Amino acid sequence: MSNEINSEFECITYEKLDTIARISHNRPKARNAESQLLLDEMDAAFRRAEADDDIRVIIIAGTGDHFSAGHDLKEAQAKRANFTVEERWAYESLRYFDYCIRIWDSPKPTIAQVQGACVAGGFMMANMCDLVVASEDAFFSDPVCHTLATASIEVLIHPWVMGLRQAKHMLFTGGRLKAADALAIGMVNLVVARSDLEAATLAEAAKVAAAPPFALRLLKRSLNRTFDVQGMRSALEAHFEIHQLSHVTEEFATKRSEGLAGAIRSAKTVSDRS
Ligand code: ZN
Repeated sequence: MSNEINSEFECITYEKLDTIARISHNRPKARNAESQLLLDEMDAAFRRAEADDDIRVIIIAGTGDHFSAGHDLKEAQAKRANFTVEERWAYESLRYFDYCIRIWDSPKPTIAQVQGACVAGGFMMANMCDLVVASEDAFFSDPVCHTLATASIEVLIHPWVMGLRQAKHMLFTGGRLKAADALAIGMVNLVVARSDLEAATLAEAAKVAAAPPFALRLLKRSLNRTFDVQGMRSALEAHFEIHQLSHVTEEFATKRSEGLAGAIRSAKTVSDRS
């Protein structure tokens, strides 16, 4: 198996493992928080994997103890706190919405490899993948209604991948969904020991990579269209706009004035409560 690690990136790693590309968040000290650069690099790497005829399956992962704690709130506070509606729309529609939907729409099959925290923006990205393999310590949450007073995150994929009632429970309480519970409701495909996560994900990827790629591409297209004809894309687009509205409310302004420390503290409280 050829193993080519590409080190031209600062915030991600790009590995070519035979017919599998593995793209990893690589800011482990920041719990793989998704900064602007990380998201831009992730999208560039994803396009590269899509354009590479040798690649049959794309894995999205995270180095260290966590998949990703979500969008980089410290950077957001420092660089984007005073964004106008227009500026926020431009930033979030490209980096949060379009980049995610590109993963969902990829002609190649994708697998999320998840350990530790898979929160908010991280939750959104992992759930764009076709399959999810998680380790026993993985947990999923989207507490931002509680912590930031926003209407969830930008891509409301939740009800489509976990069912409406489960989505409401997780979002309304701000709580955590453990890996075993995510498996029970069908949101993840496989839960393995932390030490087996990488091997188990590669094994699943190898099984998928063995399928004739064009047939698989057509199959994925048809499966995704099953959700599209139920209105998924329109619902996601409508939610993006609702989410933008929630960024300019009094509640949001109050949360922001309480500051980043307050948001992080309350995120921890909400998470610990569940
Ligand atoms: Zn937002």
